Amino acid sequence: MTTQNFEDLAQIVGKEDCFNDKAHLSAYCYDATKERKYPECVIFPHNEEEVSKILKYCNTHKIPVIPRGAGSGFTGGALAVNGGVVLALEKHMNQILEIDMENMVARVQPGVVNMQLQKAVEAVGLFYPPDPASEHYSTLGGNVSENAGGMRAAKYGITKDFVMALRAVLPNGEIIRAGKKTIKDVAGYNIAGILIASEGTLAVITEITLKLLSKPKLSQSAMGIFPSIQSAMNAVYKTMSSGVTPVAMEFLDNLSIRAVEEKFKKGLPKDAGAILITEVDGNLQEEIDYQISKIEEKFYENGANNFIKANSKEEAQDLWFARKNASPSITIYGSKKLNEDITVPRSKLPELLERINEVSKKYGVVIPCFGHTGDGNVHTNVMVDGSNEEELKKGHAAIKEIFEITVELGGTLSGEHGIGLSKAPFMELAFSKEEMDLFRSIKKAFDPNNILNPGKMNL
Ligand SMILES: Cc1cc2nc3c(=O)[nH]c(=O)nc-3n(C[C@H](O)[C@H](O)[C@H](O)COP(=O)(O)OP(=O)(O)OC[C@H]3O[C@@H](n4cnc5c(N)ncnc54)[C@H](O)[C@@H]3O)c2cc1C
Repeated sequence: MTTQNFEDLAQIVGKEDCFNDKAHLSAYCYDATKERKYPECVIFPHNEEEVSKILKYCNTHKIPVIPRGAGSGFTGGALAVNGGVVLALEKHMNQILEIDMENMVARVQPGVVNMQLQKAVEAVGLFYPPDPASEHYSTLGGNVSENAGGMRAAKYGITKDFVMALRAVLPNGEIIRAGKKTIKDVAGYNIAGILIASEGTLAVITEITLKLLSKPKLSQSAMGIFPSIQSAMNAVYKTMSSGVTPVAMEFLDNLSIRAVEEKFKKGLPKDAGAILITEVDGNLQEEIDYQISKIEEKFYENGANNFIKANSKEEAQDLWFARKNASPSITIYGSKKLNEDITVPRSKLPELLERINEVSKKYGVVIPCFGHTGDGNVHTNVMVDGSNEEELKKGHAAIKEIFEITVELGGTLSGEHGIGLSKAPFMELAFSKEEMDLFRSIKKAFDPNNILNPGKMNL
């Protein structure tokens, strides 16, 4: 990128929103992977028209453009692997444009933080369920681009289930609309569906229309304590197919329970094989009572030793403490966490966890697991000493084997964090040559010059 390119781009947004100084390049060179890839320029566009002009210019001059929300991605999606422009949308394009109460939809700019929308709609009695653990800082543009999910996915689904329409700018600067505010829309290809989870490789999303629900009035949480990981995993899929749909069904294995207990001394059952933490919601107390008693019955049928119900908000917070603090606690097992978010059909969870245990023994690495078992999504964390090359090698070999097992069980490489850079080498493990060719043709149709987020997803 030349000095002339930089000056031309600065003309589009103004000098005060276009930077190539060291401080800005450093501030926008990383995401949650902690890898560093320096861009040549950071631009903060004010609106869709400026995004369009920037893309048109960069397409003509073959300059890479990397769209970016909050940079909380776990797979390097927002990293500038080939230099170029980081297009940072969180600074100016962060407005909730409309909450349409009659049609129960919200229209937002991509830089709106997830929790900002949750709070705004809850203030008027509505509900936006997708709740990634990064909800306090990740943006809705990033959530759509990664198809983010959270603990409530077991009942309510993930970001894709709420996207009704998008506006986006193509790499050549053309602006497109995809989808409508209507519940039904079967005219034409589902372009919004292609853009969801496209990780900034096809277009820059400039406006999102999201479905909203009514906020349920009541909820209750409970925890089941199990003697073994197998009994807990059996309880998950047998409960989920028993006629109740919990909002959340999260688990911690024994290593994760012990890590939280060692750090926080909360009186957790250190000898348990696993715990399941669940929540139900509804508008009638009878509805809540029915769901909780059904879950209790299923947990005990599958070998639970204990079932604890929360009878207040404080008690619920106590039950959820272990799950919410699992990720920072497991660092007691190693300085480097190689974490993946594989997902399998729920009935395969017992076999998946059994085989992860075998991988752990084979490579001599500790692998604490926790996660969103209600939707089959397991966070596997291969813990190694980051300064020890030999251990790192073993850790990566263990991950490859875990991916192979996941694919064999009919699962996917990623339930929520996407592919980005870190999982790109495994795409060919999960997809056939024909499928990869199709992905590459779609990329080419949107972005023939490969300027948008190049180097990602093995495209
Ligand atoms: C502590 C922690 C917990 C997390 N928990 C969860 C979780 O529970 N569930 C979950 O799903 N994820 C989780 N994540 C991962 C991450 O927060 C999500 O992937 C999130 O959706 C990323 O949003 P972001 O705004 O940070 O996007 P970025 O990291 O900035 O970008 C992510 C990708 O989206 C692209 N992108 C961003 N905005 C746009 C746009 N407007 N147009 C086109 N492309 C765009 C980028 O190019 C990049 O490829 C977690 C991350 C952290 C650090």
